[in-house]
Amino acid sequence: MQKLETIIGLEIHLQLKTKSKMFCACSNDGENQKPNTTICPVCLGHPGTLPTINEQAVNLGVKMALALNCQINQKSKFDRKNYFYPDLPKGYQISQFDIPIAVDGHLVIEENNQPKRIGIERLHLEEDAGKNIHLNGQTLVDFNRAGTPLAEIVTRPDFRQPEETKIFLQNLRLLARYLGVSEAEMEKGHLRCDANISLRPVGEDKLYPKTEVKNLNSFKAVEKALQFEVRRQTALWEKNTPPHLTETRGWDEDKQETVGQRTKEGFSDYRYFPEPDLPPLIISDQDLQGIVNSLPELPQAKIARLITEYSLSASDAKILVQSKDWSEFWEQVMSELNSWLFKSEGGNDQAEVIWEKHKAKFAKLAFNWISNELFGLLPVNFKFSDLKISSENMAELISLVYQNKINSSAGQTILKAMFESGGDPSNIAEKLDLAQIDDVATLEDLVIKVLMLYPKQLAELKQGKEALLKFFVGKVMAESKGKANPQKVEEIIKGKI
Ligand SMILES: [Zn+2]
Repeated sequence: MQKLETIIGLEIHLQLKTKSKMFCACSNDGENQKPNTTICPVCLGHPGTLPTINEQAVNLGVKMALALNCQINQKSKFDRKNYFYPDLPKGYQISQFDIPIAVDGHLVIEENNQPKRIGIERLHLEEDAGKNIHLNGQTLVDFNRAGTPLAEIVTRPDFRQPEETKIFLQNLRLLARYLGVSEAEMEKGHLRCDANISLRPVGEDKLYPKTEVKNLNSFKAVEKALQFEVRRQTALWEKNTPPHLTETRGWDEDKQETVGQRTKEGFSDYRYFPEPDLPPLIISDQDLQGIVNSLPELPQAKIARLITEYSLSASDAKILVQSKDWSEFWEQVMSELNSWLFKSEGGNDQAEVIWEKHKAKFAKLAFNWISNELFGLLPVNFKFSDLKISSENMAELISLVYQNKINSSAGQTILKAMFESGGDPSNIAEKLDLAQIDDVATLEDLVIKVLMLYPKQLAELKQGKEALLKFFVGKVMAESKGKANPQKVEEIIKGKI
């Protein structure tokens, strides 16, 4: 049997986060409203109504295309894609056929630390259809979604493994969120994906009839469905009966397998023709430049910057950058720590030198306190906008730990109080009596008391049983209710033996 390779391409629909629909003034928030309330004669396709192009949708589509390194067609056009389906009130969908708004892009993903470039064939704008709802043997139609702006992104068949598609989609979601183009929530249908997959003997260039897999509602479903297809199609090749027709299959989540829906002999005939009710879509140089200038720092650039600017490790930087809000919060905390250090050093030139020297240490400390301790407190579905902790207070908490004014278990208690009701960490430490005991005389009293309580262990420690040092530090910590400075306690015990 010859060796086979897998060829996968994706078609992605991204719901754009606009105020109104693609071609009318209806609210684009239909999914949160009662069925058939965000509709009008235009999106219901009443005769005599005229569509108008939503500028914001164009703007968001161009942003996404630029982030995908596409070439923008400053002159594109809309076309009618004709088909009949109950949720399509006009009997056609307004889409872009031969001149899409953007072509020829790419996105670099990383798999096992290896960069891989995935080509983007095109990005075009179109409107969504309504939604059929099957209820008690009846089919109801909700037209709220009809006319919702979508960007359809078509990749080149550059994926060679199902795992790569998941990484690509996660990257795409992150980009969409950074740009504010879409919530890109797969579970809510804001990001929908169909996958085309075929196999071929290694060394051949030709593409064999593909299988289109639909109904993929999560990243995991995309990966699982494609893994299933690789197994199914490999078995067909091994029996010498590879797929000879293009086929559409749906993913059955319960059975964890794809199920055949239909095969087709050629392309479906959608009888595309130019939309006569819309002028060509022209984007001026000035408008295009305005969109280019409005692009925020994108995730990959940000990861690279956090590594060079703060000496953060690559894996920590990647975790932070998964959320725009949290990575911005972390950077604000770093900037607060910088100004705190500057003030505590008396604001002289020396402060900048000290900052440079300790920056990596602060970066790691701030990362740990945010991504381990604070994230550990967040309930599921926590919204960043509900965070009661200011970056200034977070920085102060970290500086208290850094200066050993509180130990880390007191820090966790304070953080929890800050998370629940906001507030200043020094005040909370005082109120809860959590400030670390640093005073040598007080610590000595505690140590002497504990040593006297365990004469047998003390004798063994004196004879050189080093492990007992930890035992005594632990006892002193317990005696002080966790407030003693453990490093100082250890030094004092060493001095007594
Ligand atoms: Zn409407």
